[in-house]
Amino acid sequence: MARAVFALCMLVALAACASRPSAPPAAAVPSPQATYLACQQGLNSTGAMFEAMLPMKTREGCGFSEGIKITATPSPLNQPAVLACPTALALSRFDLDVVQPAAMQHFGKRVAKIHHVGGYNCRGIAGTRKWSQHSYGNAIDVIGFDLADGTRILVSRDWRARGARANFLHDVARGACQVFRVVLTPAYDKAHHDHFHLDTGPDRLCGI
Ligand SMILES: [Zn+2]
Repeated sequence: MARAVFALCMLVALAACASRPSAPPAAAVPSPQATYLACQQGLNSTGAMFEAMLPMKTREGCGFSEGIKITATPSPLNQPAVLACPTALALSRFDLDVVQPAAMQHFGKRVAKIHHVGGYNCRGIAGTRKWSQHSYGNAIDVIGFDLADGTRILVSRDWRARGARANFLHDVARGACQVFRVVLTPAYDKAHHDHFHLDTGPDRLCGI
């Protein structure tokens, strides 16, 4: 008897399920997890070296849900950078599509290392009440490049110089604006006299 009641209940449940109006298709919006995996596949396809990170959130609201610790873009970085995955992917595209072609054009050599001084960093923008895009892993500060022969090119020293090094840096900054949403250079303000701030945040600014 119990089994018959159970079977009846199952039939009623199935009927209820079948008669429910079907939900509209929701395939257009991929889940955050699918987006994260697609981003990691994109990074793999560039030859980048990286590790996925667990989501992170601080009391102040800093952090990220799709973090990456990247060590090569595929050019080796001077130190690992913690970035949101889309920013890590932008940095890899920047390396492949902007930095390397500019180095070949100006020096006939590849860039062998990219120097940066920070990706994720929970802090405000100096002189404002806004949180920096570094607070969400959306920004990285690049200070220079080593060519394959060991020649070092520094934003602080070479941006305002003449010749191939300055031309290279200006071309790289111009190209960065095609990859990142915000690019700040020594031409933008004194706070950026020694680095390129590259970010994928919501603003749009090519400060070159
Ligand atoms: Zn910055």
